[in-house]
Amino acid sequence: MRPFQLDRPTDIGAAVLSGARAGHYDAATEWLAGGTDLIQLLREDVRRPSRLVDLSDALGRWIEPSPYGLRITAGATMAQVAANALVREQFPLIAQALLASASPQVRNMATIGGNLLQRTRCAYFRDREVAECNKRDPGSGCAALEGDNRTHAVLGVSAHCIAAHASDLAVALVALGATVRTARRHGGRLITLEDLYRRPETTPEVETVLEPGELIAAVDVQTSPPGWRSHYLKLRDRASFEWALVSVAAGLEVDGDRMREVRLAMGGVGTVPWRLRHVEAALEDQPLEPDAIRRAALLAIDGARPRPRNAFKLELMPRAIVRAVTVAGGLA
Ligand code: SF4
Repeated sequence: MRPFQLDRPTDIGAAVLSGARAGHYDAATEWLAGGTDLIQLLREDVRRPSRLVDLSDALGRWIEPSPYGLRITAGATMAQVAANALVREQFPLIAQALLASASPQVRNMATIGGNLLQRTRCAYFRDREVAECNKRDPGSGCAALEGDNRTHAVLGVSAHCIAAHASDLAVALVALGATVRTARRHGGRLITLEDLYRRPETTPEVETVLEPGELIAAVDVQTSPPGWRSHYLKLRDRASFEWALVSVAAGLEVDGDRMREVRLAMGGVGTVPWRLRHVEAALEDQPLEPDAIRRAALLAIDGARPRPRNAFKLELMPRAIVRAVTVAGGLA
């Protein structure tokens, strides 16, 4: 690990000042929260900051009811949120997504803000021996295009990067229409989770719309309507501590035998957490029965651009949606 300067501000205002040069895209300064991802990247020499701003004492670590539903501060740990009674009772999609993520040890350390800003699991990105990675070294190429791309994205890809977004939590929060509250030097702002992430296009190293020096302070989630049911389904190569091949966050309002408001997002298939608005529209007001769900689920692969090793995801995606909606709707 290379030497770096360490700042440890004690409140969020001081953190913003301390990190005025920081940002997710600034190679010179990095935010540090739980450290479960960043420390690994420092050890592997993937990130080479000259300065770290440790947010351990600056970020809040609480979960509380808000006027609209729920507020989770960015320093709360994954384990803390997954175990919270309010989250489990009223926002079970969040608890399920968190418990499907990482290992218990990692969940005890990792923060909500860090989880949302974790870097891709693309093996080429994390291997300094591989020269071609536009996300790590802009302009160097993409080894995954012709390499082992089994776990990579099929939606939102570009000729510069096909890395899948890694966060399960982000998928659940996108389905729930959640918003992040940021802090920055000239006033924080609200950004929906869906708008937070950028597709790779020609600049895969820029992963979010956060400005240099801007940090996530909290996440707000609105209470779901009465009669809302949800399910998080994660399909992966092994039962724990594994990233998604395909995941689905499904929520729906059931009115008699019909689906009313439907929310769907997928993980493991997109370069960002992928909201499926066209599938939602095809499901709404349809009977809650397998054939109707199956017909709509086939639309999920519209616009997909698979590589030879990850084309299997095109078959897995509709099947996963059918399963997740079926379980959420109480049919299975
Ligand atoms: Fe790098 Fe993205 Fe290509 Fe992976 S898919 S090697 S992260 S540019």
